[in-house]
Amino acid sequence: MNLTTKVLLAMAAGIIVGLGINVLGLAAEGSFIQFYLVDGLFHIVGKIFVNALKMLVVPLVLLSLISGVCGIGDIRLLGRIGSKAFVLYMLTTAVAIASALIVAGVFGIGKGLNAESASTFEGAEAPALSEVLINIVPSNPISAMAQGEMLSIIFFSILVGISLLMVGKKAENLIAGVEVANEVMMKMVGIIMSLAPYAVFCLLAKAMAQLGLDLFVQLIGYVVVLIFVLLLHLFVTLQATLMVFSGLNPMTFLMKMRNTQVFAFSTSSSNATIPVTLRTVVQRLGVDRSVASFTVPFGATINMDGTAIMQGVATVFIANIYGVELGLGGYLTVIVMSVLASVGTAGVPGVGLIMLSMVFTQVGLPLEGIGLILGVDRLLDMVRTAVNVSGDGVVSAIVAKSEGKLDRSIFDDPDAGVVTPGAVVLPHGTTA
Ligand code: ASP
Repeated sequence: MNLTTKVLLAMAAGIIVGLGINVLGLAAEGSFIQFYLVDGLFHIVGKIFVNALKMLVVPLVLLSLISGVCGIGDIRLLGRIGSKAFVLYMLTTAVAIASALIVAGVFGIGKGLNAESASTFEGAEAPALSEVLINIVPSNPISAMAQGEMLSIIFFSILVGISLLMVGKKAENLIAGVEVANEVMMKMVGIIMSLAPYAVFCLLAKAMAQLGLDLFVQLIGYVVVLIFVLLLHLFVTLQATLMVFSGLNPMTFLMKMRNTQVFAFSTSSSNATIPVTLRTVVQRLGVDRSVASFTVPFGATINMDGTAIMQGVATVFIANIYGVELGLGGYLTVIVMSVLASVGTAGVPGVGLIMLSMVFTQVGLPLEGIGLILGVDRLLDMVRTAVNVSGDGVVSAIVAKSEGKLDRSIFDDPDAGVVTPGAVVLPHGTTA
């Protein structure tokens, strides 16, 4: 059985077990199952796994980007890759939110509901755009790395790469060293991925055990429309974009991205998924490392199609509930704000709600409205994160293809880069 099958089975099992615990009411506060399984085993194993993924993010981005820049060797090309990726990321996000506003508007979700049940929600502080821009240049790269500030790390790594190239011959050994170190990190990604089936089971069982199912029933219109638009974006908009801009086969793309989507779904974090996305994009889709090492972390930070869709649907939903007329100007503001907000916030769990409070403040919707959808956000966060990372994959493939940096033989080979579980082969032939 290959890893993808195992992970998918683990995912299904985790969902069934978690929902079973939830429906049977076994996860009551202080119960045995809650204490030892949900908050015990599931929590610990899941958290360890997410930590292990996060552990790789900073060194991996740093090393792969430095060696990527050295691999490109041409600063103008780097600029072109950067601009193409940026434009595509912004464009897909804008399309995502526009389609969310349209579909949610057509269905008129939230009409006829009243706001009385609203709980309170404190609008969280979202970073100002000026702050985001200033912080791209870290005053202290070590602290940027310690904090996982992705844009600063990207900036620093690119500059190191460029400087290494400029030093030239003397730096050759160092460049070779960085390449080896990068390979070591990639191996670590493979090792950690091979443990995924157990972790995915635990992460999902815990998340599902804690779902508020009765809330889902109350908010069914919101949930169904949101998931519908997310799937529409994933299977139609993104795949059409891939086909039109690169001519690549969407079926192959989707099949190869499945693993990454499950990781994003289980961790609810595009950032924690970076190692897996990077590995998939390079080793399964055939995108050259020099392109992927930039587009993947950049996308995890600034590209959030799924999150933008949530914002569009939530805006229409809450506006209808509170009887606020947004008008065309209001909707355009929502589109611009969401796109900007997605640049300023990193891909970590639940950040979409912070961005949403930014959007609401701008268009004058009551922040307490967010309290209404808070209870169902956990599951929706999982789905939208899977859409977010798929967008990163699509753009990486398009940019690489357009620069002649996509290896078709890897893309077309169904078995390229698959992780074989349990096959951590040491040089002397023993298997760990
Ligand atoms: N969890 C999402 C991500 O990491 C962001 C969000 O929508 O909250 O991509």
